[in-house]
Amino acid sequence: MEKILFNGIPELSIEDAENFDIWEVECNDNCGQAIARGKVVYLLQVARTRSGVPFHITSWNRCELWNAYVGGVDDSSHVTGWAVDIVMSDNSATNYKILEALMHVGFPIIQINTEKRYFHVDLNPDKIWWRLLL
Ligand SMILES: [Zn+2]
Repeated sequence: MEKILFNGIPELSIEDAENFDIWEVECNDNCGQAIARGKVVYLLQVARTRSGVPFHITSWNRCELWNAYVGGVDDSSHVTGWAVDIVMSDNSATNYKILEALMHVGFPIIQINTEKRYFHVDLNPDKIWWRLLL
Protein backbone atom coordinates (compact mmCIF):
# COMPACT_ATOMS: atom_id res chain seq x y z
CA MET A 1 0.00 0.00 0.00
CA GLU A 2 1.36 3.33 -1.01
CA LYS A 3 1.60 5.87 1.78
CA ILE A 4 0.15 9.25 0.99
CA LEU A 5 2.12 12.02 2.65
CA PHE A 6 0.10 15.06 1.61
CA ASN A 7 3.28 16.85 0.60
CA GLY A 8 1.25 19.47 -1.22
CA ILE A 9 -0.58 20.66 1.86
CA PRO A 10 1.10 23.63 3.53
CA GLU A 11 1.58 23.75 7.28
CA LEU A 12 0.19 26.43 9.55
CA SER A 13 1.24 26.66 13.18
CA ILE A 14 -1.58 26.94 15.70
CA GLU A 15 -0.04 30.19 16.94
CA ASP A 16 -0.49 31.68 13.47
CA ALA A 17 -4.05 30.43 12.95
CA GLU A 18 -6.53 33.29 12.93
CA ASN A 19 -9.49 31.42 14.40
CA PHE A 20 -7.97 28.59 16.44
CA ASP A 21 -5.95 28.48 19.63
CA ILE A 22 -3.83 25.89 21.41
CA TRP A 23 -6.47 25.42 24.13
CA GLU A 24 -8.77 24.02 21.45
CA VAL A 25 -6.11 21.43 20.56
CA GLU A 26 -5.43 20.35 24.15
CA CYS A 27 -6.67 17.04 25.47
CA ASN A 28 -9.94 17.57 27.35
CA ASP A 29 -8.68 15.98 30.58
CA ASN A 30 -6.23 18.85 31.16
CA CYS A 31 -3.19 16.53 30.94
CA GLY A 32 -1.55 19.14 28.73
CA GLN A 33 -1.12 17.03 25.61
CA ALA A 34 -1.65 19.21 22.55
CA ILE A 35 -0.41 17.88 19.23
CA ALA A 36 -1.30 20.45 16.58
CA ARG A 37 -0.41 19.07 13.15
CA GLY A 38 0.43 21.93 10.80
CA LYS A 39 -1.42 20.44 7.85
CA VAL A 40 -4.55 19.87 9.93
CA VAL A 41 -4.40 23.44 11.25
CA TYR A 42 -3.94 24.75 7.72
CA LEU A 43 -6.89 22.89 6.20
CA LEU A 44 -9.10 23.70 9.16
CA GLN A 45 -8.26 27.42 9.00
CA VAL A 46 -8.84 27.63 5.24
CA ALA A 47 -12.18 25.86 5.68
CA ARG A 48 -13.13 28.13 8.58
CA THR A 49 -12.33 31.24 6.57
CA ARG A 50 -14.21 29.97 3.52
CA SER A 51 -17.31 29.03 5.51
CA GLY A 52 -17.60 32.39 7.25
CA VAL A 53 -19.05 30.72 10.36
CA PRO A 54 -17.42 29.75 13.67
CA PHE A 55 -16.14 26.19 14.11
CA HIS A 56 -16.81 25.02 17.65
CA ILE A 57 -14.26 22.28 18.42
CA THR A 58 -15.21 19.61 20.94
CA SER A 59 -12.30 17.25 20.55
CA TRP A 60 -8.92 17.65 18.85
CA ASN A 61 -5.95 15.95 20.50
CA ARG A 62 -6.49 13.20 23.11
CA CYS A 63 -4.02 11.29 25.24
CA GLU A 64 -4.42 7.48 25.30
CA LEU A 65 -6.07 7.55 28.72
CA TRP A 66 -8.67 10.14 27.78
CA ASN A 67 -9.34 8.46 24.46
CA ALA A 68 -10.11 5.20 26.25
CA TYR A 69 -12.24 7.02 28.82
CA VAL A 70 -14.44 8.68 26.18
CA GLY A 71 -14.77 5.44 24.24
CA GLY A 72 -12.62 6.41 21.27
CA VAL A 73 -11.44 3.62 18.98
CA ASP A 74 -7.98 2.17 19.75
CA ASP A 75 -6.37 3.65 16.67
CA SER A 76 -8.21 6.96 17.01
CA SER A 77 -6.66 9.73 14.94
CA HIS A 78 -7.35 12.08 17.86
CA VAL A 79 -4.51 10.40 19.77
CA THR A 80 -1.97 11.28 17.09
CA GLY A 81 -3.40 14.72 16.42
CA TRP A 82 -4.73 14.00 12.95
CA ALA A 83 -8.45 14.41 13.68
CA VAL A 84 -10.76 17.17 14.84
CA ASP A 85 -14.42 17.08 15.88
CA ILE A 86 -16.57 20.11 15.05
CA VAL A 87 -19.99 20.68 16.59
CA MET A 88 -22.95 20.48 14.26
CA SER A 89 -25.06 23.63 14.36
CA ASP A 90 -28.83 23.68 14.95
CA ASN A 91 -29.01 25.68 11.74
CA SER A 92 -28.90 23.55 8.59
CA ALA A 93 -27.64 26.43 6.44
CA THR A 94 -24.69 26.80 8.81
CA ASN A 95 -24.00 23.07 8.65
CA TYR A 96 -24.06 23.27 4.89
CA LYS A 97 -21.43 26.02 4.96
CA ILE A 98 -19.22 24.03 7.32
CA LEU A 99 -19.50 20.80 5.36
CA GLU A 100 -19.07 22.48 1.98
CA ALA A 101 -15.89 24.16 3.22
CA LEU A 102 -14.48 20.95 4.75
CA MET A 103 -15.04 19.14 1.46
CA HIS A 104 -13.77 22.03 -0.61
CA VAL A 105 -10.39 22.17 1.15
CA GLY A 106 -10.08 18.43 0.61
CA PHE A 107 -10.22 16.72 3.97
CA PRO A 108 -9.96 13.08 2.80
CA ILE A 109 -12.08 11.70 5.65
CA ILE A 110 -15.21 13.48 6.84
CA GLN A 111 -17.59 11.62 9.12
CA ILE A 112 -20.98 13.08 9.97
CA ASN A 113 -22.44 11.93 13.27
CA THR A 114 -26.06 13.10 13.24
CA GLU A 115 -26.81 11.39 16.54
CA LYS A 116 -24.08 13.10 18.58
CA ARG A 117 -24.19 16.04 16.16
CA TYR A 118 -20.60 16.60 15.13
CA PHE A 119 -18.37 16.47 12.07
CA HIS A 120 -15.18 14.41 12.38
CA VAL A 121 -12.42 15.40 9.97
CA ASP A 122 -9.35 13.25 9.65
CA LEU A 123 -6.03 13.55 7.83
CA ASN A 124 -4.34 10.45 9.28
CA PRO A 125 -2.02 9.06 6.55
CA ASP A 126 -2.39 5.56 8.03
CA LYS A 127 -6.12 5.55 7.39
CA ILE A 128 -6.22 6.86 3.87
CA TRP A 129 -5.72 4.24 1.21
CA TRP A 130 -7.13 6.06 -1.80
CA ARG A 131 -6.03 9.08 -3.75
CA LEU A 132 -8.05 12.16 -4.54
CA LEU A 133 -8.30 12.44 -8.31
CA LEU A 134 -7.70 16.14 -8.75
ZN1 LIG B 1 -5.19 13.66 28.39
